Amino acid sequence: MDLIEPAELAEFRAEVRDWLAANVPAEPLPSLDTEAGFAAHREWERRMCDARLSVVTWPERYGGRGLSVLEWLAFEEEYWAAGAPVRVSQNGIFLLAPTLFEFGTPAQLGRFLPPMADATEVWAQGWSEPGAGSDLAALRSRADRVDGGWRLNGQKTWSTRAAFADWMFGLFRSEPGSSRHHGLTYFLVPLTAEGVTVRPIRQLDGEPGFAEVFFDDVFVPDDQVLGEVGQGWRVAMSTTTSERGLTLRAPGRFSATAQRLVELYRAVASDRPAAAAAARDDVVDGWMGAEAYRLYVLDTAVRVMAGHPVGVESSANKLFWSALDIDLHRTALTLLGERATLLDDAESARWLDGYQFALAGPIYAGTNEIQRNLVAERVLGLPRG
Ligand SMILES: Cc1cc2nc3c(=O)[nH]c(=O)nc-3n(C[C@H](O)[C@H](O)[C@H](O)COP(=O)(O)OP(=O)(O)OC[C@H]3O[C@@H](n4cnc5c(N)ncnc54)[C@H](O)[C@@H]3O)c2cc1C
Repeated sequence: MDLIEPAELAEFRAEVRDWLAANVPAEPLPSLDTEAGFAAHREWERRMCDARLSVVTWPERYGGRGLSVLEWLAFEEEYWAAGAPVRVSQNGIFLLAPTLFEFGTPAQLGRFLPPMADATEVWAQGWSEPGAGSDLAALRSRADRVDGGWRLNGQKTWSTRAAFADWMFGLFRSEPGSSRHHGLTYFLVPLTAEGVTVRPIRQLDGEPGFAEVFFDDVFVPDDQVLGEVGQGWRVAMSTTTSERGLTLRAPGRFSATAQRLVELYRAVASDRPAAAAAARDDVVDGWMGAEAYRLYVLDTAVRVMAGHPVGVESSANKLFWSALDIDLHRTALTLLGERATLLDDAESARWLDGYQFALAGPIYAGTNEIQRNLVAERVLGLPRG
């Protein structure tokens, strides 16, 4: 693979870098798990969209620039290196949009993509239920056929951003008497619809990072079904494959963290050389891990551009980035030592917050135990456990 960036890519990278340098807020935005923070993040994404930088790989008519995955990876590198805000629209642009491009009708693309690009409509993911997490096929929320559409009943939980989001994509059982992966349908539902109740779930820090969502005879018209009726599992697996394999965690995120870790190491080395020396191998491992992930994802991107699916290898990918994120943050906390507990020290607070979030990495997007089962059975061909 030729790793030398072509001139157009370098030009695009320079444009992104300049725009970010001029526009990234000097002070971090308030947490997007608060109403004010959510609104501030929406406004940030609207400005990115005005600069046609919010969804660079999408066709121009939907707000993008029609660029390739390689240009998107370069965009993400610059975005994270600039310390720009977390994307409030990530469920939409990184999870739903690739699935819409694969299964959506032209009318659905025209209806849903533009307001996703400028964060006028922010999406939540409605898959998990109280009795269906790892075992998603056990889901019980149902959709009953009615004139012109469907009536939804049931409950979803752990829905990230749902406390303030506008729409949800979710899986419902649409064939009475069906079981497991059969008879499911993928629906697009406004959270403002009559019969929807959103109940925020407070996290340890008191902020509503998740919500439970209750459906009580919610009407959804036929044109808000994504893919074929009864084929929801297939459509959902397309979402999870792009999520785990490519879109949700761009390498730029970890390269930026690794770079910050190296800077922290240098600062500690001049102050407390013994503490730095004890962590030196872990710092090097973390930096190499981020670089390995960057190269691996470039390889995936080249395969995708040649028309190949991401495939079940996405599970191995997810195992790698979730472990890497914890390792990078844990090493930083070791370097910080007692300083790591000083919440009024902005640098320490950022590492600690990042560490707490990294600990969720082995759970969301499908737990790591389940990914190991998938790698064992479907990549290595081992017998089912
Ligand atoms: C930060 C975060 C954000 C999330 N956002 C969303 C969201 O937006 N939308 C949404 O729908 N869900 C979301 N989730 C929920 C997430 O998808 C589930 O938590 C996850 O799928 C696990 O389900 P569970 O919590 O019910 O755990 P369980 O399925 O009960 O699993 C409990 C433990 O048992 C293990 N286990 C279960 N089955 C097996 C098996 N067969 N073999 C080996 N080990 C097994 C699991 O790995 C886990 O360690 C989010 C979760 C987190 C932490």
